[in-house]
Amino acid sequence: MVTSPESVAAVAVGAGLAVGAWFYAALYPTSQIFGRVVIAGGDPAELALTYDDGPNPSATPQLLELLANHDVRATFFLIGESVRKQPALAREIAASGHCIGNHTMTHPWLSYQSAARIRSEIASANAAIEDAIGGEVKLFRPPHGARRPVVFRIAEELGLATVNWNIITHDWRVQPASSIVDKVRNGIRRNRAYHRGSNILLHDGAMDQPRTPTVQATATIIADAKAAGMRFVTPEAWV
Ligand SMILES: [Zn+2]
Repeated sequence: MVTSPESVAAVAVGAGLAVGAWFYAALYPTSQIFGRVVIAGGDPAELALTYDDGPNPSATPQLLELLANHDVRATFFLIGESVRKQPALAREIAASGHCIGNHTMTHPWLSYQSAARIRSEIASANAAIEDAIGGEVKLFRPPHGARRPVVFRIAEELGLATVNWNIITHDWRVQPASSIVDKVRNGIRRNRAYHRGSNILLHDGAMDQPRTPTVQATATIIADAKAAGMRFVTPEAWV
């Protein structure tokens, strides 16, 4: 794994970019420099709820129940090794009508991995998910949003569109639901000002962590969006 500043600088120089530009291209969620990332469309009334790092038996079922009660379709970017442990839960997400995406097999930073490792991470997660749900996967989200040109090439060869987000809530850190909701409200306001849809990054994983604030925040986000006449879509609408 390449993590030292010197190694990052070497990778950046190899890619023909200054180090600052490399960090932007590889890690900034909406940067399009290394390849096309699906973020959102031009209709500010559209909103996608996306949940990463599941399936998680301590949080995903509660979320599925909430989404079903409000008749909202969301997107789940699943980690392959968690799908292997919880295939029935992955199946339930799909059977509930949600969109399922690939979030790699073991969740590494792909900006620092070899092409062979990147391919095996994405291909094994596709296999794990497709074995569990019996359907095809079309979307891919790189862990931490990190990528480099080869990540896009491999994802595309495997039939996947790469998706990031334009609203981040930092809900992997412990915080009250109200703080998650505030970030989403600010993000939607900003996206409306720029005439673009909202693609919200949330987390129902990792395995065995209860995500109570995220589930509670989801209830408020749905109520807000419905009151504002917004429509729930999945990133497939923006590919
Ligand atoms: Zn993740």
